[in-house]
Amino acid sequence: MRVLGIETSCDETGVAVVDGERGLLSHALYSQVALHAEYGGVVPELASRDHIRKLLPLVRQALDEAGTVPSDLSGVAYTAGPGLLGALLVGAGVARSLAWAWGLPAVAVHHMEGHLLAPMLDADPPDYPFVALLVSGGHTMLVDVQGLGRYRILGESLDDAAGEAFDKTAKLLGLGYPGGPALAKQAEHGDPGRFHFPRPMTDRPGLDFSFSGLKTRALTALRDVHSEQDRADVARAFEEAVVDTLVIKCLRAVEDTGAARLVVAGGVGANRRLRVRLREAAEARDVSVHYPALEFCTDNGAMIALAGMLHLQRGEAEDLTIQARARWGLAV
Ligand code: ATP
Ligand code: MG
Ligand code: FE
Repeated sequence: MRVLGIETSCDETGVAVVDGERGLLSHALYSQVALHAEYGGVVPELASRDHIRKLLPLVRQALDEAGTVPSDLSGVAYTAGPGLLGALLVGAGVARSLAWAWGLPAVAVHHMEGHLLAPMLDADPPDYPFVALLVSGGHTMLVDVQGLGRYRILGESLDDAAGEAFDKTAKLLGLGYPGGPALAKQAEHGDPGRFHFPRPMTDRPGLDFSFSGLKTRALTALRDVHSEQDRADVARAFEEAVVDTLVIKCLRAVEDTGAARLVVAGGVGANRRLRVRLREAAEARDVSVHYPALEFCTDNGAMIALAGMLHLQRGEAEDLTIQARARWGLAV
């Protein structure tokens, strides 16, 4: 089975082709980061318009690179939510229409399920069950994954997502958008002992998160500091606090569920400190940690094509409705 996947939920246009036997055959990605950078964040209307410009050329590119023609395909998968509604409608409308024109089934994919299944693109994918830490620009959640489509939310952020906190704090530090990677780079030169930031909600039971207080803490710390070194020290303290909090909650989730595997996905999963710290902590408890390849941590079409293929293999397909939902819970 071969499936075309389309992702347009935010500021990346992603298209990919996966094959049931041969795995990922191609993936094409266009990032709108430069377009939105001058506004300091994603401008929804501009995102939609750019997806319209880029999507069909990327579909052609992905098919060409995969050596695939429409008659080789068994279905078309698309991100149906959550995300920016206008942006979603572009991908959903195009994907549903292509599927209809080609006489194929279409599958509406939950964007966070895409992130969650991204490690399955690996040559050596993790077995079910596992605990997934989803840490992206819009979400921070711990999910008990018993199998495909069997997701129980163990905890989530009550305010800012981890990536959002990285981006907002990066802005305070005068770094560009999206600031997560830039902040992490600056933190490498920081002294971890200079400032101490709190580890929010770790002193009480439960698996929910709260990251909005950390940017306020950064703002306070930045009041009296001016040099590059000072800023690096603040970045380091912030990163340590987020990473520490995520590690504490992951270990708690693994303990609560008795899981032997932890999957980490979403853009913040690219963070090096988080990877190092989680690996150390998990290995000490005989828990294996699985990450998608770096390029599949952030938004991409490959994870959507894969999720769509897994659902299609179970015989799930949809009617002609074009599905797009700005808000959409993951648990079923
Ligand atoms: P969602 O999936 O919740 O809708 P999104 O798709 O915008 O959100 P992703 O593309 O998965 O999110 O991830 C982007 C986020 O990851 C941004 O907030 C970015 O700052 C953050 N990020 C990327 N790399 C790093 C890094 N090395 N360290 C910290 N944060 C990072
Ligand atoms: Mg993005
Ligand atoms: Fe995402």
